[in-house]
Amino acid sequence: MVETQDRSQTQPARLMDGTALAGRITRETSAAAADVLRRTGVAPCLATVLVGEDPASVTYLRMKQARCAKAGIESRHVSLPASTSTAELVATITGLSQDPAVHGILLQHPVGPHIDERAAFEAIAPEKDVDGVTMHSFAAMGFGLPGFASCTPGGIMRLLDAYEVDLTGKHAVVVGRSAILGRPVGMLLLGRDATVTYCHSRTVDLPSVVRQADVLVAAVGRPRFIRGEDVKPGAVVIDAGYNPGNVGDVDFESARHRASLITPVPGGVGPMTIAVLLEQTVQAAARQLGLT
Ligand code: NAP
Repeated sequence: MVETQDRSQTQPARLMDGTALAGRITRETSAAAADVLRRTGVAPCLATVLVGEDPASVTYLRMKQARCAKAGIESRHVSLPASTSTAELVATITGLSQDPAVHGILLQHPVGPHIDERAAFEAIAPEKDVDGVTMHSFAAMGFGLPGFASCTPGGIMRLLDAYEVDLTGKHAVVVGRSAILGRPVGMLLLGRDATVTYCHSRTVDLPSVVRQADVLVAAVGRPRFIRGEDVKPGAVVIDAGYNPGNVGDVDFESARHRASLITPVPGGVGPMTIAVLLEQTVQAAARQLGLT
């Protein structure tokens, strides 16, 4: 187990290698996908839905589809015009939820301001919610019940486990409270007996809270927002931020001289998100095909 407070800070932090761990998880997922195909004659299938043509979303989805193909997961892509209404999007997703050939559904965020994104997410059947975006999945994460995790928070927990970080009784500070990242990662940390504090844009004297963190999760979306001088010596630092220029939310160079473990950007949290998405898609397929 990594003891977060006892390490002398004579050396820079160990890096938490998300690329290597994601590679291992994806190799296991590929084997599991091949097993599903061999036993049922059906390959796991992820449906992706994109509204509009936002270039970043197009790139993300292409990347996810390429990774699916490599892992033996079929993908079915539905591209809808930016003018799509909430009712049309809900109808499309409901169709995919009812289609037995589709095992997982990913609605690419954002969908455009005129669409009720929550209504669209809720049209995803819970057993196909491999991106962990429905209220059902959120509640399951909150109650510690089986269900699909939001992919980035799920990936963060896998990283903490791979590096044997002992969370029990540790003070985990999560900076950010978004529905896909900050909030669920805090719930997952709480489920592992950490004492969790959330920080957000209204938090007063944020550095003083950050300085108490044995485990710090930065999910802010502001480049180098967390300064090394505010990192508690020996802390485990998870930088979920991904800002233009491949820069995280933590000032890596200063933080790595105080942390015991730290995720690099890129190559830390980022690769874990897709790895968890693929893994959860194969798990969904295995369950729906009666293998588990
Ligand atoms: P988001 O929805 O914009 O949420 C940002 C959060 O940070 C909000 O809760 C906001 O507080 C808080 N915040 C903003 N400015 C702050 C300040 N000055 N002080 C304290 N808190 C502040 O962002 P997100 O979707 O969670 O993403 C966060 C970061 O993670 C981004 O860099 C994103 O690119 C990255 N990300 C990476 C992955 C991955 O796969 N690696 C996946 C998703 C996101 P309020 O709630 O008060 O507004």
